[in-house]
Amino acid sequence: MKGKIILASDFGRDFQWGVAIAAQQNEGGRNIGGRSDSIWDTFADKNNKIKNNHKIGDACDFFHQYQRDIDICKLIGFNTFRFSISWSRVLPNGTGAPNMDGIRFYNQVIDYCIQKNIRPFVTLYHWDLPTVLEIEGGWTSHRMLDWFSYYVETCAEHFGDRVKDWIVLNEPTGFTTLGYMLGMHAPGRRGISSFFPAVHNVLLCQAQGGRILRNKVEKAHIGTTFSCSYIYPNSDKPEDIKAAQRVDAIMNRLFIEPLLGIGYPRVSDFKFLEKLEIHNLAWRHKEQMTFDYDFIGLQNYFPITVKYNPIIPYLSASEVKPKDRNVPYTSMGWEINSQAFGQIIKQFAQYPNMPRLMITENGASFKDTLVDNEIHDIKRIQYYKSHLSELLRLKNKGLPIDGYFAWTLTDNFEWNFGYTPKFGLVHVDKDTQERTIKKSGYWFKSFLHT
Ligand code: BGC
Repeated sequence: MKGKIILASDFGRDFQWGVAIAAQQNEGGRNIGGRSDSIWDTFADKNNKIKNNHKIGDACDFFHQYQRDIDICKLIGFNTFRFSISWSRVLPNGTGAPNMDGIRFYNQVIDYCIQKNIRPFVTLYHWDLPTVLEIEGGWTSHRMLDWFSYYVETCAEHFGDRVKDWIVLNEPTGFTTLGYMLGMHAPGRRGISSFFPAVHNVLLCQAQGGRILRNKVEKAHIGTTFSCSYIYPNSDKPEDIKAAQRVDAIMNRLFIEPLLGIGYPRVSDFKFLEKLEIHNLAWRHKEQMTFDYDFIGLQNYFPITVKYNPIIPYLSASEVKPKDRNVPYTSMGWEINSQAFGQIIKQFAQYPNMPRLMITENGASFKDTLVDNEIHDIKRIQYYKSHLSELLRLKNKGLPIDGYFAWTLTDNFEWNFGYTPKFGLVHVDKDTQERTIKKSGYWFKSFLHT
């Protein structure tokens, strides 16, 4: 496939081509129309939590600029637009009476997509829990199942007549490990006493959210997403191979296996997982953690190389730069490797009873260069080309892949890295909110029109 020019039409007429954004990263409008703070607003307000002390501010002002952004999607040729709902905007108290201003905003976004003949793909939870609920325990609280169920019901009732494509959670591994174990993301909690209950409550909500949508939304197409990274052992020494298996269990298996009815992943001699399972009494809730999703969204950015490292708590493993692969990196130091993208998709596709697949995020950050008022991001184009070639190869081999979403439309708030990394197909001037389509955006335009 290398070197061969690929066409969007090679993926088939029904393939979903989309671009993804998220409320916290794009919307701004923090205090407008009754919205309350999310855990990310609260976290980013503190000093030294976000690189260079960046503040979220107006982000890309999607709150006011949504028509302009959806127009750009249309111009580029995406037939699908993925965005998330801010729980704090819809239910400022976390639960209780819906905020009609918030509902109105999302109705406008949804209606505008439909008007432009773009399918609205709605993510219910992209990491921005209302702070009021975090104060009550957040994801560590057993009340989370009730709070989350009510939030899903509210969204289903208000938007389900027009929104048919739903994503329940964005990357549970990301927000539980970074937010509740390592303290690097909001709400900044650390340790197993937060992580273990958070994992369990997320697993229950992950399945329950799907069930609620199935009951409430006619003809719904329901999915949830997982971050995934192919894990290379640093050598063929048994201790490196076992270290890679442990990292694989946490990064790739922890949330999908209970969902599929397999239960918590097991790796021999990995005490951490045994403890987690015992703590959470998984066997009791095994059925509550399963749901028959229509699709699973896989989100991939990079592979990881791992070596045995006894001083790292629990995992006894650490990430190293690959010694036998001469690979390029993104501006965030993430390895660019489309083969590994293919490998991890195959790993997920191998589960028995695996639903159909969509790639719900894939993309890269680079320092963009301005030449004659044009933003030349050739490396991003190469990244997309190589990953899409690999995806087509897998699809042609018969893997059930129904769609692909680029991450992301506009340069946006990249969590604890602030605004420095640029992932967008469209540049945003932070002072004027002016949008400039990059070369990669124009590349997608010509690709999607083939
Ligand atoms: C998240 C996005 C994030 C992207 C790049 C994914 O893990 O869903 O919100 O911006 O990766 O880091």
